[in-house]
Parts: sequence; structure tokens; C-alpha cells
Amino acid sequence: MDKKKILIVEDEHKIARFLELELKYEGYEVEIANNGRDGLEKGKEPDVDLIILDLMLPGLSGIEVCRRLRQTSEVPVIMLTAKDDISDKVTGLDIGADDYMTKPFAVEELLARIRVLLKRKNINKEKEEANILEIGSLKLCKNNYKVEYDNENIELTKKEFELLEFMMINKNIVLTREKILDKVWGYDYFGDTNIIDVYIRYLRSKIDQKYNVNLIETVRGVGYIIRG
Ligand code: CA
Repeated sequence: MDKKKILIVEDEHKIARFLELELKYEGYEVEIANNGRDGLEKGKEPDVDLIILDLMLPGLSGIEVCRRLRQTSEVPVIMLTAKDDISDKVTGLDIGADDYMTKPFAVEELLARIRVLLKRKNINKEKEEANILEIGSLKLCKNNYKVEYDNENIELTKKEFELLEFMMINKNIVLTREKILDKVWGYDYFGDTNIIDVYIRYLRSKIDQKYNVNLIETVRGVGYIIRG
């Protein structure tokens, strides 16, 4: 198995060095950034598997680094807070940090949390590779055209599947009938947009009504939306 790379963003050299040694001993590859700007740059590199991010940094704060990082990246982030400051933790988690530790911390606990986050990242990656979309209990697997609700198989026709897939990919976006027609049916379809309403009805009878949920919402006068 290839080595996981962990980026340490920490201006206190003693702590950075200590973490580096511990992590290397555990078999991780380690990179260090001593300030926020450098941390942001290095954190954007695609080969970084996890970031340990100190909150108090010169220049760009840890909060700011995390906030900017989250605009483009979902790399797991563990925040280090110097004091037991609840508002720092809440802010950190709000802007997308996955976990936090208060200094001083037991390195064993940090290592355990790193393992959890890396494992979770792996599972997400497997899902991505299997082309799985999930919204609540609804699961759609592109690779084998399977759709499940609460692990129960739902039989869909190819068009129903494609419509559902398009709506799930674009969740939380209101989709007009024209847009759905264009993207799911394509330019070779010359019928009118009523066909969308017909297919939405099919999907609703197989999912919404069957499982008593309100998955596909009508946005009056505009189109449809799936929220998730
Ligand atoms: Ca610091």
C-alpha cells in the first residue's frame, strides 16, 4: 500500500518536529508548513491525504486556511486549538474542519483520529469509484444501473434512471423542464416538455409514494428539484 501523506501546518517548530517524528514512525509521509500561506499552498496539492492545521498561525489564521481550502478541496482537516476555546472549535467545524484537538493532546489520540479520517476518506473514494450517488436513504449506482431505497431495490426504466441520476447530480438546483429535456432526452427529441411531467410522475410513484417521502419537489411554474 502506498504511504499516506500528511501535511502539518504549525508555526511552533518544536510541535511540528514532534508530530513529524511520530507520524513518520507510524509510516506516514510528512510535509511541514510553518505559516498559513504556505499551508494553504501545500494543502491544495492533490497528493496530500490529510492536514493537521494549527489555529494560531502568523499571517493567515488556521480558520482562514481551512475556509479557503474548502472552496476547492475536501481533504480531511484536523484543527489544533491552543486553548479549550469552544467558539474556535465551533468556527473550525462550521467552516469544514473534520475534527479538532486541544493542545496539549495525547499523540495516541491524534493518531487514532487520523486513522478514522483516512478510513472515511477511503470509503468515500470507493463510493466515488463505484459511481454512487446518495441522498438520504436513496442510493443510485451508475455502474450497474441500480437504485435502492433503504437497501430495497427499485426497478427503473433506462430513461427514469437517467432522469433520476440527472436530478441527483444537480441536487438542490431547480431544474426547468427545458433543461431536463435538453440534458436527459437530448437534441434528438422533438416532443414537448410534457414528457418530463409524465416521467416525474413515474419516479414519484416508484419512490415518493412507495416510501412515503417527498423526494421530488415541484417548483411551481419553474420545474423540479431534489433536495439533499
Ligand atoms: Ca501556532
